[in-house]
Amino acid sequence: MQKIPEDGEVIKFENGKWIVPKKPIILYVEGDGIGPEITHAAMKVINKAVEKAYGSEREIKWVEVLAGDKAEKLTGNRFPKESEELIEKYRVLLKGPLETPIGKGWKSINVAIRLMLDLYANIRPVKYIPGIESPIKNADKIDLIIFRENTDDLYRGIEYPYDSEQAKKIRDFLRKELGVEVEDDTGIGIKLISKFKTQRIARMAIKYAIDHKRKKVTIMHKGNVMKYTEGAFREWSYEVATKEFRDYVVTEEEVTKNYNGVPPSGRVIINDRIADNMFQQIIIRPDEYDIILAPNVNGDYISDAAGALVGNIGMLGGANIGDTGGMFEAIHGTAPKYAGKNVANPTGIIKGGELMLRFMGWDKAADLIDSAIMESIKQKKVTQDLARFMGVRALSTTEYTDELISII
Ligand code: NAD
Repeated sequence: MQKIPEDGEVIKFENGKWIVPKKPIILYVEGDGIGPEITHAAMKVINKAVEKAYGSEREIKWVEVLAGDKAEKLTGNRFPKESEELIEKYRVLLKGPLETPIGKGWKSINVAIRLMLDLYANIRPVKYIPGIESPIKNADKIDLIIFRENTDDLYRGIEYPYDSEQAKKIRDFLRKELGVEVEDDTGIGIKLISKFKTQRIARMAIKYAIDHKRKKVTIMHKGNVMKYTEGAFREWSYEVATKEFRDYVVTEEEVTKNYNGVPPSGRVIINDRIADNMFQQIIIRPDEYDIILAPNVNGDYISDAAGALVGNIGMLGGANIGDTGGMFEAIHGTAPKYAGKNVANPTGIIKGGELMLRFMGWDKAADLIDSAIMESIKQKKVTQDLARFMGVRALSTTEYTDELISII
């Protein structure tokens, strides 16, 4: 049984709002491969930032949740019942990467946690870090956050091979009932986009933009072609913006029509871009984009494309968030070849932790982490993945962590 700190309190959720006590209990999963090294590094950095920002006023009370290799070693089970119970109860966790074998073996624990807490938004901030090489020339303008819907769309997995009984039934239905001609050698996947699922993530993205004083939310869609799925995603997102946040937002169309092209100050601009255009926009004019709100498939593609603009996989964090919980992590995996060697870059999961602090409303601590990472890279104090491109001596994971702590 894990010991729960007596003076720690549970984070509560009311109407999508996080009610964070001064000493919240937050769970952590060490993870597999490089997980234990980078997760502990992140916790140290987060603790230091919270202490610097709030003194003894606030403190995170960490509680370990066993999962993956460590859980298997200690309990014989990769995701024990007790871990599930802790996650059900405390609902916010910082998670090291977990191994998921492809095509065989155990099921993904990441997916199990996502389903358990209904974490419907996948969120990835992508911000340029001076000193890190980027493939584009105006990289310094990149400061994006992608909100990708995570439970709907083609990835719901309603798919049938072309030669299956189900595909045949659907083809027959299309022909007979709807008068649509479909070739017999056609596999079938079904695209579903619901109003409820669209509007809950639109609400989250717009609320985040307002709370964190971001300037714009851009709806990414291919509604000109897929009118009743992606087109509806666009329409339903505008509806949330203009009905639920009327005093806080202005649409791009309203800026042109009613404000002579000059948006009223303090309002979040809501606009939309066709998906293919969105890709060139973030490359050519990254400064014109801020929060991108996308359905599942588009969001998957644009997240990786945007990530590539700032260069390095070890530097990006992300989160999966629902109305009553959140899981924060690095975007990369377990990097098995570096496991146990004290060389991995812990920045990704530290950025995951920074995002966690923002969802908690502890922005002052989050800002300290952001600027410490910037400063350390400016001074070329980096781990081996970056050092070899910068031509400098590489710091170990622990040296780099200590460097961040001393800057904070
Ligand atoms: P990976 O992200 O582990 O590695 C890709 C490449 O990036 C490798 O060369 C690796 O050494 C390097 N790399 C990654 N993170 C690094 C870091 N912090 N510092 C330095 N170098 C780093 O991806 P993969 O090899 O495809 O996957 C390995 C395992 O991780 C798989 O079992 C996969 O299922 C799992 N995975 C888990 C998550 C998660 O838990 N969210 C995400 C992705 C992959």
